[in-house]
Parts: sequence; structure tokens; C-alpha cells
Amino acid sequence: MENRDAGLIEKILDLKKRRGAVILAHNYQLGEVQDIADFVGDSLELSQNAAKTNANVIVFCGVHFMAETASILCPDKVVLLPDTNAGCPMADMITAERLREMKKEHPQAVVVCYINTSAEVKAESDICCTSANVVKLVENLDAREILFIPDQYLGNYVSARTGKEMILWPGFCPTHARIQPERIKELKQEYPRAKVVVHPECRPEVIALADEVLSTGGMCRYARRDEVLEMVVGTELGIIHRLRKENPGKRFIPVSEQAICPNMKLITLEKVLWSLEEMRPEVKVSQGVRLRAKAAVDKMLQIG
Ligand code: SF4
Repeated sequence: MENRDAGLIEKILDLKKRRGAVILAHNYQLGEVQDIADFVGDSLELSQNAAKTNANVIVFCGVHFMAETASILCPDKVVLLPDTNAGCPMADMITAERLREMKKEHPQAVVVCYINTSAEVKAESDICCTSANVVKLVENLDAREILFIPDQYLGNYVSARTGKEMILWPGFCPTHARIQPERIKELKQEYPRAKVVVHPECRPEVIALADEVLSTGGMCRYARRDEVLEMVVGTELGIIHRLRKENPGKRFIPVSEQAICPNMKLITLEKVLWSLEEMRPEVKVSQGVRLRAKAAVDKMLQIG
């Protein structure tokens, strides 16, 4: 640890205590940010954690829709996002207005929204999901028509796994789109004993080459298995930090060093400290939107 970081970390931890705050970080955050967090996880784990924390203040080290979800679940808490420019390009590929138009074309459809959506879009949806629970959720859904938003690749994967046809929105994650099947083929040759594990936001050609398709939380659990000694990892690069930290002696090979989400990397230790000092920027969802969005998120959390 650099001295610069040691001083910063001390200040963050001290102020966190004084503010009664909890720091939640997504698996794609910078390593040094993950290391100061009280909890590191995927979107589902982070929402579950936000819903049950007793802290008065949540410092959300992730992107905007994640902080919004925490605010939807905990309206009485102060939810801080250390950099409000940390958005999600995939979430921005759909708006509430465009969804309303689509719903008019499919009035019978049940709308399943990926958690990577704005609060306004969640408010227009019937049920929310994450990559960790979407297969189970769609499997158990009693609907003649399903409209799945906004990730076409995740939707395509779920459709293949469940055998259910879904109307897909043409969104995608630009970071996961950088993961190339050709590179996985090369890595399979290079590391024949390695398990290939990819995120379901990857393109179908990539998913077809994988041994396992898992959320980031699922990847962390899978990596702990005794039989997994080498793992080719097809998701955002930030997770490699956690995988290596939790599994010393095992080998983790990223499919692409370019699979970096620039939004996730906007959160730095300096910004976390500044956010705790100033108690801003706060993310808050208006009550009308919040209650409708919460109904969709609550249904997801009941399923787990
Ligand atoms: S990795 Fe992709 S889906 Fe996740 S926040 Fe970044 S752009 Fe959005």
C-alpha cells in the first residue's frame, strides 16, 4: 500500500465511523476502493445488503442505477454516490417514455427489467431482476408474453436457458461487447485445464464457449471450489482483484484487458473521502417514482 493511500484510508475509515456510514462496492470497482468497503458484491447482493443495513448513510461505490436502487429500498437513509458521472451506458439505452410506447404495442406483456435501468424505467416495469436471479425468475413467471429490457444478450441467454420466448430490447453493455470469442479460443489452447467462466452480458458467441455463465457474485463462489485451479474470466476487469485476493495460489486470466468499464472506475478513494466530508452528492428518488419502482424491486428480492 502506498503512503498516500494509507493516509487517505485512515481518514475515510475515521469519517465513516463518525458519520455512521457503510461503504458498499461493486465487484468492478478499483481494487483500492473494494479494499476499504464493508461489503463487495454483485448488484443483487448489494441491493440485499442496502435493504438490511442499519447504517444511516450508504456510500455507494458503483454506478448511478445501483445508488438509485439503494435509495428506492432505503428512503430514510442518505445514499451517496461519490461521482454522479458514474452512469451505465446500457441503462441509458432505454427511457421510461420509450418503454411506455413499447408497452402500448404489447399491452398483455409482463415487463421484466434488468436492474441496470433508471428508477423511472423500473417504475414502468412489473418485476426487476439481476444476472444472478433472472433465470429462476423467468422460469417461474406465469406470462404469455414477456418484454425483457434493456440487455438483448442477457435476454437472449435467459430465453435459451428457459425455453421461453421474450421480446428483447436492443440494449447491450459496451464493456462486455469487448470480450471476443477468438481470444477465448486462444486462451483455451494456452490453458487447457482452465474453466472458462463468462458473464451473461457477453455476446452469444462468447457464451457458447463458456463452461459456466455466472453473475460476478456467482463467479466469486465458483472460484472457491477445490476443483477450480485456473479460470479464464470473461467480464469486467475489476473482478480479477477480488478473485486473486480471495484465492491465493489459483490463476485467474482475464479474457480482455480492455474490458474496463470507465464509469465504474470513476469512483476513487479521494472521491469517497470528499463525499463523506461533504455528505454529497446524494442520490434520491422522488416518492411517486420510488413507490412504483420499489414494487418491481421488492418482487425480485422476495425471489432472492
Ligand atoms: S460494466 Fe456495462 S452494464 Fe456494468 S455499469 Fe459498466 S456499462 Fe453498465
